[in-house]
Amino acid sequence: MSENINQIAVENFEKCPLCGGETILLYSDLEDRVFEANGKFTFRKCLNPDCTVWYLNPMPADDEIYKCYKTYYTHDEQKKYKTIRPLSLLTRAICKSNMSIIEKCLGLKKELHFFRYMGLQQNNPGKLLEIGCGNGKKLLMFKELGWDVEGIEPDKHAAEMAKNKTGAVIYTDSIEKLNLEADKYDAIIMHHVVEHFKYPTRILNECFRVLKKKGTLVLGTPNCDGYGSKKFGADWFALEPPRHLILFNNKSLTKLALTAGFREIIIKPKISGQRWLFETSEEISSKGDCKHLYHGGISSPKSIIKSVFYQLKHYQLTQADPAMGNEIYMWCTK
Ligand SMILES: [Zn+2]
Repeated sequence: MSENINQIAVENFEKCPLCGGETILLYSDLEDRVFEANGKFTFRKCLNPDCTVWYLNPMPADDEIYKCYKTYYTHDEQKKYKTIRPLSLLTRAICKSNMSIIEKCLGLKKELHFFRYMGLQQNNPGKLLEIGCGNGKKLLMFKELGWDVEGIEPDKHAAEMAKNKTGAVIYTDSIEKLNLEADKYDAIIMHHVVEHFKYPTRILNECFRVLKKKGTLVLGTPNCDGYGSKKFGADWFALEPPRHLILFNNKSLTKLALTAGFREIIIKPKISGQRWLFETSEEISSKGDCKHLYHGGISSPKSIIKSVFYQLKHYQLTQADPAMGNEIYMWCTK
């Protein structure tokens, strides 16, 4: 069923879009807290114990999803939001240097490097596809390691930048429509992309088909059961309505991979580099949105200082229980 709410045509899913199971309402009256997409949305949770995904409801209709991205990014408002607050800048500088020292002491610099390369730096370079490659920053890193890279990026402007940066083939269609050669890639990576898909099962099925035997799929995504989600509830930045459509935890992500046929599934939390998530969530919690941060603004000194404590708490909690990580990464093999 399709209807129109404030110019974005939407589709309602009372039952889980992944498994068809019964669901409950988690959060209601959510609006875009980052850009300018119109509409009010809810998040629902699947009650099927084998599934447990969270999903946005209603979801933008397939051919309206683009409206949630650049169309609603009003450049004129950059001026309106642009503020330089010396106290915030000073606070951030002090906190950043302190966090840098703390992260070094906790051994998180190594971890940051590991995740920058999606844990593939020890693999023999082969053919790699990045789904959602943006401007090609990661693709270039892999190219420099000797990988033969290709990308998929629906934003034509970003795709052009990626092409210029890497000289690689960059597709602008969805992987489902590309009909890529089977058994082609040694690795496929998706960095914070899977949560943007309405039908992630179809995407993973296609990844499985185009990977070589023993090829690896690596993806990183927000964890709806992590500390940030539990701490901030409806103000958790990573809900990101209406662009995040389905959110996973360790269990639902494992299920997704198993359903597509993958095996040897490993899930790890990313502990380093969580400042942005806590700062944005804290700004949403105190001001209702964090749009100013995307228009040249800076967080309040209070949010910056609190985010340091949240990062330390996140470290402590994930040491005891890795399932508390804000971000989870999954490695799986064909
Ligand atoms: Zn479900």
